[in-house]
Amino acid sequence: MKTSKKIYLISPRGFCAGVTRAIEIVELAIKKYGPPVYVNHEIVHNKYVINELSDKGAVFLDNINDAPPDRPFIFSAHGVSKDVELHANKKNKIVINATCPLVTKVHVQAMKFFELGYRIILIGHKNHPEVIGTMGQLPSGSIELVETVSDVMKLSINDNDNFAYLTQTTLSLDDTKKIIEALKVRLPKIISSPKEDICYATSNRQKAIKEYAQICDAFIVVGSSNSSNSNRLVEVAKNAGCENSILLENEVNLNVKDYELMTSIGISSGASVPDILVKNVINKFAEFYQVTIEELSLGNENVTFKLPKELRVG
Ligand code: SF4
Repeated sequence: MKTSKKIYLISPRGFCAGVTRAIEIVELAIKKYGPPVYVNHEIVHNKYVINELSDKGAVFLDNINDAPPDRPFIFSAHGVSKDVELHANKKNKIVINATCPLVTKVHVQAMKFFELGYRIILIGHKNHPEVIGTMGQLPSGSIELVETVSDVMKLSINDNDNFAYLTQTTLSLDDTKKIIEALKVRLPKIISSPKEDICYATSNRQKAIKEYAQICDAFIVVGSSNSSNSNRLVEVAKNAGCENSILLENEVNLNVKDYELMTSIGISSGASVPDILVKNVINKFAEFYQVTIEELSLGNENVTFKLPKELRVG
């Protein structure tokens, strides 16, 4: 007889509005211009999504110079630097911008702070494509990156400098709060964006896991290892008291035997993860255990973003 497992399915989870829009942009571009279309970097950080779009005719590039000038070139949801934007607009006949509007909001704010003469601090992860794109909105050296509280302590400060800070959109709410507190101690007059830079999707997924991970014996976040927001969700689950929390690419990597001694398993997913991957994980559990599912939700999301005008219908 199969042993019983309770699966708590946490929401909000999975696709955010920026990811939904970016995937739709690639699909519509293939439909309108025919394959192949070229995309700067992975359009979103999820292997399943990348494979599906590759099958349809998308080609993902790390170097913009590899994109043929006569084919559409698409910027990923993470955004690009001004250099990449200028280069693409000069070289490629059709350039489509799939940058999430909430990332663009941070770019616009960086430019405003720069024009007002502020020294800009960006809280984020070095080498993440979004951070490269945001830092690349301004001349080199105009934005200083801090990743930790100890980076804040190392900032050199001149009395005449006015400081402003921005953040990457997919950071841990709790870790970022600590870094902002440290900035405010060192720089009491530092200002921020009028509206939070960490996006609604990052924030909602973290809050839901923080609320519910504590009642789970184990927690699974479905997501790819290069997905910033998915990695943060695992940290949140652990910090909420569920030490036995992992990031899982898909059901193939799931070892159901690891869960033999556990009765309750929480499942959520990153903002770039299609729900089919969550269903596949649950189905694999159901092959080995008697599974009951309970949905736990902190509310619905109804955010949508407009498509770029070249792909709008009607
Ligand atoms: S996680 Fe947030 S910033 Fe990133 S694409 Fe989704 S909505 Fe946009």
